[in-house]
Amino acid sequence: MEIKRNILLNAGPSTTTDTVKMAQVVPDICPREKEFQEIMKPMRDDLVRIVHGDTKDYTSVLFCGSGTICIDVVLNSLLAEGKKACVISNGAYSQRAVEVLKYYGLPHIEIKQPIDKLPDLTVIENVLKESDDIGYIYVTHHETGTGLLNPIRDIGELAHRFGIMMITDTTSSYAMIPIDVYRDNIDFCMASAQKGIMGMTGLSYIIGKRSIIEESANYPKRSYYCNLYMQFEYFEKTGEMHFTPPVQTIYAARQALKEYFSEGAEEKWARHQRVMKAIHDGEAKLGLREALDISVQSGLVSSVCYPDDPNWDFDKVHDYCYERGFTIYPGKIDGRDTFRLCALGAIDESDIIEFWKVFEDALKANNIMIPTSYGEDN
Ligand SMILES: *Cc1c(COP(=O)(O)O)cnc(C)c1O
Repeated sequence: MEIKRNILLNAGPSTTTDTVKMAQVVPDICPREKEFQEIMKPMRDDLVRIVHGDTKDYTSVLFCGSGTICIDVVLNSLLAEGKKACVISNGAYSQRAVEVLKYYGLPHIEIKQPIDKLPDLTVIENVLKESDDIGYIYVTHHETGTGLLNPIRDIGELAHRFGIMMITDTTSSYAMIPIDVYRDNIDFCMASAQKGIMGMTGLSYIIGKRSIIEESANYPKRSYYCNLYMQFEYFEKTGEMHFTPPVQTIYAARQALKEYFSEGAEEKWARHQRVMKAIHDGEAKLGLREALDISVQSGLVSSVCYPDDPNWDFDKVHDYCYERGFTIYPGKIDGRDTFRLCALGAIDESDIIEFWKVFEDALKANNIMIPTSYGEDN
């Protein structure tokens, strides 16, 4: 079967290999069969192995849902009675975490920081000094809306110095940027199969400390479907997800993990960096400017400012590229017009070289000046 290969430069789902796509085509199976449980067990271990955890200390708990389900689960399940959540808020995804806490009506401290700079560790430290009832610190590793990379190792070190649990949303960095839960001071992290491992949508996972999950059995239960301990306990007892799993997505994830380990963590990260370099090279050639200084970027997302050109029209440029198999993505920065080019997925440098040819043609077709121009304040 011939499957058209699209190059997705959006922030996930990402371009997948044909072998991962085809892994979904399997005989129908009831996921309560032993045969299916035999897929889940090694998968749970592999997911821990990606962040270099020892499966004696760390475990993974799988959920059927997009990545946001993990944000919901950790925030509502890991807050002990009488404790406050503490969120470092510097982008759209940490903002989402704050919203989740509000929806649950949970007490929280929001440490607001600029979205285009590294957070001020002294500010965080002062908050921790002043409060003795913080249950966990929560920070987004890679703020996918801008491309900002937060210093989780330093924040985790700070949290642990005050005896506080460290939770980080690694949805858009896991299995891309090398992560080590011990070195990076992580108690809980999370991701989704459609991002780093280059699988399909609908499967998400939390990787975290077994001992804390066990302790959380006594925390208030605030959700039925989205409770971490309940799902963990069911896995431990039966080897299965509590409710119907995304069967075909799990087959695809199994294949994606096989391909992840055969590519190698370091090699994969080198490939993503090669892709980002090709993105940056093309931007430089066309005079495109980025919203964030390179020193604070993750290396996985580039936020490009709209050129100041009367003919610039994101939708027209998008449609031109889309018709030719390349998907570019709107930005997510309040008050600033940007679009994003992301280095996720099963793509390489050569795909980006082809992309820039198409993008340049899109500019020409729309009479947008090359090199692109920017006004004084950009
Ligand atoms: C993609 C992503 C999520 C999950 O988003 P969904 O739309 O639910 O898939 C969560 N956090 C970050 C940082 C992400 O990039």
